[in-house]
This record gives sequence, C-alpha cells and structure tokens, in this order.
Amino acid sequence: MRPCAEHAQVAAGFRCDGCERLLCEDCIEESYRLLLCRHCGERALPLEDHQPATRQAREKTRVQTAPYTLKDALVFPFRGTGLYILVAAFVIKFGANFVPFFILRLKVTILVSALIAALQFHIVRATIRGENELDNWPDFTDWSELMKDLLAWLVLEGSFQVMIGMFLGVGLLSGFVGFEPSLPAALLFATVLWVGTGFQIIGYGVVASYSSWHLFMLHLHLRGFRQTFGDAIRFSNLIFFLRGAIFLSQAVLAYIPILGFMCSLLLELYFIFMVAHLSGLLFRKHEAYFDQLYLS
Ligand SMILES: [Zn+2]
Ligand SMILES: [Zn+2]
Repeated sequence: MRPCAEHAQVAAGFRCDGCERLLCEDCIEESYRLLLCRHCGERALPLEDHQPATRQAREKTRVQTAPYTLKDALVFPFRGTGLYILVAAFVIKFGANFVPFFILRLKVTILVSALIAALQFHIVRATIRGENELDNWPDFTDWSELMKDLLAWLVLEGSFQVMIGMFLGVGLLSGFVGFEPSLPAALLFATVLWVGTGFQIIGYGVVASYSSWHLFMLHLHLRGFRQTFGDAIRFSNLIFFLRGAIFLSQAVLAYIPILGFMCSLLLELYFIFMVAHLSGLLFRKHEAYFDQLYLS
C-alpha cells in the first residue's frame, strides 16, 4: 500500500499533477468535471489507469457498483416519471384501438409504434447512463431520430416475429408442428423464442450505445453473449419467462371483456419497459467490454 502524504495510515488512490503528493479520498475534491488536489488545487489523477479520472466517470462507477437488485429492476416502470409515462402510453395505445376508418387507424398505429420505439430506446439510454428511474419524457420533437429509432425497432421486433413465423410456417408445412403439439416441436419452439429474446437483449443495447448498423454484427453479439459472465444469459432467461408468463396471463384475460383487454395492454407495456431496462442494465454493467467489442 502506498500511503497518503497527509494521512499515513490511509492508502492513497491519487497523485496530484501539481504538487505531486499522493492523495487519499479525503485529500481530493470533485469540481464540476475534474478531481482536484485539496492542497494545491491542481488536478488529481488516479494511480491506477482503469480508475475513473473525472467526476462523471466516478458518478457512473458509483451507480454501477451500487446494489441494484432484481426486485429494484422489476418495479422500474412504476418509479419516478416512469409511472406517468406508463399511464400515458396506456391511454395512447388503448385509444388507438378505437380510431375509425382503416387508413386512419393504420397511420395512428405507425405513429404509436414510433412513440413506443422512441420510448424504449429512451429507457435503454437512460439506464446505460446510470439512471435507475426515468426523470424525463422521451424527446418526441426530433423526427429524424424518431424515424431512426423506429427502423431499428422494426428490425429488432420484426426479426423476432419472422423467426417465429418461419418456425411455424416450415413446421406446419413439413408436418413437424402438428395441430397437436409434440414435445420436440414445443422444445424447438421454446429455443427459437429464447434465441430471439437473446437477440433483443443484446440488440436494444447495441442500437442505443452504438448504431443501428451494429445490429447486423451477429458474430459480435455471439461473442458478447459468451463474455458477459452469464449476465446476458440470465437477463435473457428473465425476459423469456416474463414473456411466457405474460402470454399465458393474456390468454386467460382474453375471456374477460374490456377489463381483460385493458389488463393485457398493461402487461404488454410493462414488458416493453422491462426489455429496454434489462438490456440497458446489461450494457451498463459491461459497458467497457461492449465498447471494446463493438468499437475496435
Ligand atoms: Zn497538489
Ligand atoms: Zn489524505
């Protein structure tokens, strides 16, 4: 241990760029952007290269290492502004079902999809930044950003639907998937769903952190999946079971008129929030690794 110049019994974590003293936590202060030596006011630099050197980076490390349990994550949609956004999204999505005329309803559906896409990437980005609750609304005024998000979202959600569609189509045609589902067919179907879920968990974070084009780098997703020490798998499992539980609940709710529909819609929105939040958590936790994987 290298001791602090002022406090001999405390380990130093920094060295001053001016007076060159070794400094402990008590001997530095955070300015708006940098960490400063308390003795001379010059910049204090961390002794270890991988330690955060700015106030923002320290703030981020604090959030990354702060305890955030699964229970905390599961109530994310109900915290802070999130609850208002959830209610607003519910009203918009519910109302969209009562729009008269086919063409008008189609237009409204596209608009609602764009809003949901923007909301999801907003959640992913806020989560990666280190926010554990939403504190503002998505920016719905930047149309080019909105359209970019919508296109990426269509690829993410569309590829999932296409995978299921292809499985059912090929399965039905070949007779592998009968109208009486067999165990192997059910297992294979679950596998398809799981792979699609994993793609989404990685995909949302990739689009939010880098670009829509990174979505197509499947070989990197695979490597990222293996290298997050089981976190990508754990988060995919969680979303996979959540999707299953919500799907089964919705099947039951379908028998209850209106109220059942409203509950189904709420569950769907809860799921939309959770996919984005969990993907954000994965990328926040392994940000350094993903940066290296996708940007080098
Ligand atoms: Zn100094
Ligand atoms: Zn000290």
